[in-house]
Amino acid sequence: MHFNYDVLVIGGGHAGCEAACASANMGAKTCLITMDMNKIAQMSCNPAVGGIAKGQIVREIDALGGQMGLVTDATSIQFRMLNVGKGPAVWSPRAQCDRGKFIWEWRRHLDETENLDIWQDQADELLVESVSSEALVRAIGVRTIWGAEIYANCVIVTAGTFLNGLMHIGRKMISGGRIAEPAVPHFTESITRHGVVSARMKTGTPVRIDKRSVHFEDLEIQPGENRPYQFSYMDKGGALKQLPCWTVNTNDEVHEILRSGLADSPLYNGQIQSIGPRYCPSIETKLVTFPERDKHPLFLEPEGEDTNEMYLNGFSSSLPMDVQIEALKKMPAFRDIKVYRPGYAIEYDFFDPTQLKHSLESKIIENLFMAGQVNGTTGYEEAGGQGTIAGINAALKAGAIGCCGTTANATEFVLHRDEAYIGVLIDDLVTKGVDEPYRMFTSRAEYRILLRQDDADARLTEKAYELGLAKRERYDWWLEKKQAIEGIETFCQEFAIKPKLINSALEALGTTPLQFGCKLVDLINRPQLNLASLSEIIPQLKEVLNRPNNRKEEIAEAAEIRMKYKGYIERERIVAEKMHRLENIKIKGHFNYEELQGLSTECRQKLMKIQPETLAQASRIPGVSPSDINVMLVLMGR
Ligand SMILES: Cc1cc2nc3c(=O)[nH]c(=O)nc-3n(C[C@H](O)[C@H](O)[C@H](O)COP(=O)(O)OP(=O)(O)OC[C@H]3O[C@@H](n4cnc5c(N)ncnc54)[C@H](O)[C@@H]3O)c2cc1C
Repeated sequence: MHFNYDVLVIGGGHAGCEAACASANMGAKTCLITMDMNKIAQMSCNPAVGGIAKGQIVREIDALGGQMGLVTDATSIQFRMLNVGKGPAVWSPRAQCDRGKFIWEWRRHLDETENLDIWQDQADELLVESVSSEALVRAIGVRTIWGAEIYANCVIVTAGTFLNGLMHIGRKMISGGRIAEPAVPHFTESITRHGVVSARMKTGTPVRIDKRSVHFEDLEIQPGENRPYQFSYMDKGGALKQLPCWTVNTNDEVHEILRSGLADSPLYNGQIQSIGPRYCPSIETKLVTFPERDKHPLFLEPEGEDTNEMYLNGFSSSLPMDVQIEALKKMPAFRDIKVYRPGYAIEYDFFDPTQLKHSLESKIIENLFMAGQVNGTTGYEEAGGQGTIAGINAALKAGAIGCCGTTANATEFVLHRDEAYIGVLIDDLVTKGVDEPYRMFTSRAEYRILLRQDDADARLTEKAYELGLAKRERYDWWLEKKQAIEGIETFCQEFAIKPKLINSALEALGTTPLQFGCKLVDLINRPQLNLASLSEIIPQLKEVLNRPNNRKEEIAEAAEIRMKYKGYIERERIVAEKMHRLENIKIKGHFNYEELQGLSTECRQKLMKIQPETLAQASRIPGVSPSDINVMLVLMGR
């Protein structure tokens, strides 16, 4: 039996679901093959979406017309904006979600997507054919374990932690892609036999706790926020009840028991050789790395509205299960604890992302795209961002843009580092590669003030509309919002303030009185003032802010940030534009690096391996120095 599609997506996780929706929504006939249709976009670890820099990625996915933000809003049980005490460049939304409802909400989105079929099965072998171009072979489909052959113009692999997955609890090892789910044994080999390089990484997850056995009086409550935040720029979210989370600290007794298990820890007895996420260490790793600390914070988070299951954030472990449980019992809140299952670690295959183009197509196997954990990243958001880009590019390459795309002859969709965190993520992966699971941080972005969570729609929605991914409704909403923001800005630039009418109010707000008249925008730039406080003393401003619109708060916030940080934004834009000049200098195929005099050996080797597209990409490769770039610039000039 065999089927034919434009685009075939392997794996219904966070990358695969976004990829499948993006491709299908762009008009490509798409098939998603996944092992278990009832675990679509399963959250393997923490049932939470967003967080520092990750929240920005979710908003970008949404601005592009993706689904993660909508699904999260519909299933969120606690929403918080992190970092609000700092500048808006690093504000990051985060939501705790109902794990079960998240899966079914995603399933609903897939089921309602036109051009998308789902096939429940396991891809066993990548099918290829020979080609005569730069790549040696071309992907044409997959054969499944049940013998189905599914053919497509482009194949996207998003297999997560399932490829040769091996789970560890203490000295016990079991093959699996995630707890209670089988590993995928042969698929990696069907890709590496063509020259794609794979290696191993590791991750881990904590124990799941039965809420009924917790003494909540010994925990500290952490409520959510009542502010009207949400991920999507579109719908009103927040359908579910908002639930609190809880915090607690470990103690010396807990540490003593955990230390007694170290000899049986797969992380410390040589059983696990691969590298795990440095920023998400297991509790045993925290004890070994910080022996002087007498406590570590833990967060007890609900897994959903109507389940007793709770997630103990911060207690990820692969120690023997009796050690994990005995240690927990040494905290007063958990003295009678019952758990559903212990924490575990998992090792899995990933593929060297420097063998990918910025479109996430393989440089080695034509028409094969990869996204998510298989590229060496960690996190749902990183996976979703890559899935969106892989889905768009596979649909473009498959030439199946039958929808509403207006971008003439677009063959590739790439986001630059000053346009999106997704651009930073993919550029880092394909340019620098990974030596540990890659997660996004605001510090990875050099243009943070341009990549804010409030303005992803300003950066991306128009592009997505031109591609045919963002629909007319989203585009119209963005145009309406843009007009509303500009309306507030224009009002503030034009409205004249007279000192005698406002000085006493200014003093009451803790800021110095005016000596001369000024425009309202000059007052907004003062740190003590904002649109909300000024609207209480300037009725005309209140009227402008209250113009009918169902997202007034979001619009006022965007306008305020644009006015308050105008100088910083403009400065960063100038720097980014200078860098664009290097971005426009194409060098792919221009040099034979082996013969280039004047470059260091390291630089030559790196350039030969990565084959950068542009001089800007070359400049970001570790080991390529500014003087190497100058040598190439001079040679280009000749
Ligand atoms: C134990 C554990 C702990 C983790 N801890 C963290 C953490 O602390 N922090 C963090 O950020 N991230 C963590 N993660 C990683 C996070 O779950 C992933 O980054 C994210 O889920 C990646 O999304 P993905 O779409 O790439 O893959 P996944 O979400 O893993 O989805 C892969 C999908 O592909 C399907 N599939 C795989 N192979 C095939 C095949 N051959 N045929 C058909 N279908 C296939 C699977 O059934 C699954 O649906 C953890 C993951 C695990 C398993």
